[in-house]
Amino acid sequence: MNRVIILGSGAAAGVPTISDGWGRCNPKNPKNYRSRAGIYVEIDGNKFLIDTSADLRNQLIKNNIINLDAVFYTHTHADHIMGIDDLRALNYHIYEISGMNKPKTKNVLNIYATADHIKEIRHRFDYVLVDEKSPEITHRPQLAPNVISYGQELCFAKTQVVPLEFSGHPIPTTGYAFNQGELVIIPDYKIIPAQTLNYLQQINVNVLIMPLTSVSECLYHAGMDIDLHYINIIQPQRVIFTHLGPDCDYDAVQKLCPPNVVPAFDDMLIEL
Ligand SMILES: [Zn+2]
Ligand SMILES: [Zn+2]
Repeated sequence: MNRVIILGSGAAAGVPTISDGWGRCNPKNPKNYRSRAGIYVEIDGNKFLIDTSADLRNQLIKNNIINLDAVFYTHTHADHIMGIDDLRALNYHIYEISGMNKPKTKNVLNIYATADHIKEIRHRFDYVLVDEKSPEITHRPQLAPNVISYGQELCFAKTQVVPLEFSGHPIPTTGYAFNQGELVIIPDYKIIPAQTLNYLQQINVNVLIMPLTSVSECLYHAGMDIDLHYINIIQPQRVIFTHLGPDCDYDAVQKLCPPNVVPAFDDMLIEL
């Protein structure tokens, strides 16, 4: 069964936030308790992680995820990357199942991002990349960096993954389309560039996961009006709003949504 788990449905501050508490969210609704953004995708037997949330450790434990084939990064804002060190536990697991006599390169976990974001990961976390220091089983992650380009298809056995460019942040962010629209994940964004929008109109989008960081648009993020504008153009079967900020109360957002759109919550399971 192909499936997605929304590991973290929150934006950068999570909900409740440290300084402003629950914002407009009803604290009595457990769906309003949100960890930082992360998505797990299981498709054609492949296991993918989208971003390494600042809350990654708890998310992987809660959902019993101990094995991955690849990690795809949308961008390197802190909420999407600060859990990168927790990947060391998955490196240990790869080491155990690969056996002592296998080459040590078997232990690495492949990560994928654009050149700008790989550069940023190297700048902030140089010790996690295996091309920087010799691979060995120590107390650090062992990640193999793979540079991706927009529109350039990646293949994982039967699964096709196309990285897509989005605008609105100081540097472009990366979305991912799996198997010609079986699943499309839109990252933090404010504008969908024409090339990406054309592609999304050409394929049949089954499940679209996109951010609703705040109900009204803000400097770096689209709001409800912009999201609905693009949903109307892309015409997906189903939409899940995630990356929900403290002004996005679950029930209030649901009331604003068309029938095929639902807000996410932590540990939400989506069957494709
Ligand atoms: Zn974010
Ligand atoms: Zn961001």
